[in-house]
Amino acid sequence: MIDLKKYEVWFATGSQHLYGEETLRTVAEHSHEIVKAFSESKRIPVRVIFKPVLTTPESISNLCLEANNAPGCIGLITWMHTFSPAKMWIAGLKVLQKPFVHLHTQFNRDLPWDKIDMDFMNLNQSAHGDREFGFICTRMKKTRKVIVGHWQDEQVQEKLSIWMRAACAKLDAQGGKIARFGDNMREVAVTEGDKVEAQMQFGYSVNGFGVGDLVSYINKASDQQIDKLIKEYEEKYNVAKNLKKGGEHHPSLRDAAKIEAGLRTFLEEKSFKGFTTTFEDLHGLTQLPGLSVQRLMADGYGFGAEGDWKTSALVRAMKVMASGLKGGTSFMEDYTYHLNPSGKKVLGAHMLEVCESIAEGKPALEIKPLSIGGKADPPRLIFTAPAGHALNATIVDMGNRFRMIVNEVDVVKPDQLLPNLPVARAVWIPKPNFEAAAGAWILAGGAHHTGFSQALTSEYLEDFAEMNGIEFLLIDETTKISEFKKELRWNEAYYSL
Ligand code: MN
Repeated sequence: MIDLKKYEVWFATGSQHLYGEETLRTVAEHSHEIVKAFSESKRIPVRVIFKPVLTTPESISNLCLEANNAPGCIGLITWMHTFSPAKMWIAGLKVLQKPFVHLHTQFNRDLPWDKIDMDFMNLNQSAHGDREFGFICTRMKKTRKVIVGHWQDEQVQEKLSIWMRAACAKLDAQGGKIARFGDNMREVAVTEGDKVEAQMQFGYSVNGFGVGDLVSYINKASDQQIDKLIKEYEEKYNVAKNLKKGGEHHPSLRDAAKIEAGLRTFLEEKSFKGFTTTFEDLHGLTQLPGLSVQRLMADGYGFGAEGDWKTSALVRAMKVMASGLKGGTSFMEDYTYHLNPSGKKVLGAHMLEVCESIAEGKPALEIKPLSIGGKADPPRLIFTAPAGHALNATIVDMGNRFRMIVNEVDVVKPDQLLPNLPVARAVWIPKPNFEAAAGAWILAGGAHHTGFSQALTSEYLEDFAEMNGIEFLLIDETTKISEFKKELRWNEAYYSL
């Protein structure tokens, strides 16, 4: 359900008339060459579209207005090959509503030491042309990513692709819809928040549905739909014997498939991109949706448990950013700790709802009792996430702003097999260490629910937070609690201005 190739980014080159037609032709040729290289790069996830070189305030304003109105345009890459007097950019930047990145590059990588003359100097002016552009962006308080380096450099293209993926997630959220079945888990604070403000800030809307609305879809699921899903489960998972046809719990698996069929139809019919459930509101459902939630997440839906719509929208955004990359992305919760002095670890899991995209190997499909919610035992996928780099991200509502917190972690192999743990899990060591990571997270007010990803780095989330105009706090290998506390205090002052 996520296809980044439907999106495009526009390459906008700034210049002016002073240089004459021949130089401007060369500028355009060079821009074409850069666009071609980006288009052919496997890293770049979207189509890169060349736009005619900009030499007047009118052409700049028109381009920005067109970008606002182009449904597939995620934003602009801006680059000043020559000097583009930046007062020409004021009107355009004032109206531009799409994100932009400032690519500070130069067409020629090397100085031609023995041949350099004034013609070369007049053409290759990014060193000062981009500074003029940088001034007006900063003077106008424009949020943008600045990427410095030669355009053929892999690191430059990687940074560009990260920004593009974040911009895809931003565009995906515009008009995006999150369905909420039931309300919040009663009395929980962090999963609450201002949905109107969130829609203004992020672009997605959150609307509630009585669980009965969902139940009526589930009741309409046909035997053929259920049979088809059961077949798919048998192909994709190691299904427990008692869940297979003829097994004593096979009817429970059919119930789970029925829930999946109904939930899927509900979400598809109304074009939702994410949803929430809550175990406190399951009237008319036989089980808490578990397997279906795990599988819908794997298909790209955002999800938050206990009514957590902010995390549902965040998981969706992270899935858009991570589309096609190696490694999975899931709803997650810091569940329980290993506090042995030889190596403190976090066991992340949830009651059921962890996305199978983070599974190492083929998941097991088993049925176990659920101690919360008072419903029938739900079948669920059980697996462990593979070792490697990962991160947890959260968005909390601070009352006057949204705050994103990201913690980089290393997923490790569990010390031992976990034969009695009936849920999917990931075990990790947070950076810089357990004490500082958990301490900083709690001081910052980070939620217990997160978006967990083994595909993304913190740079994706930072770009995403910036283009959405929200606060961003990073807990990584350099974090020191005393410095982090200062950052919290400074940010408090900044956002109170
Ligand atoms: Mn939870």
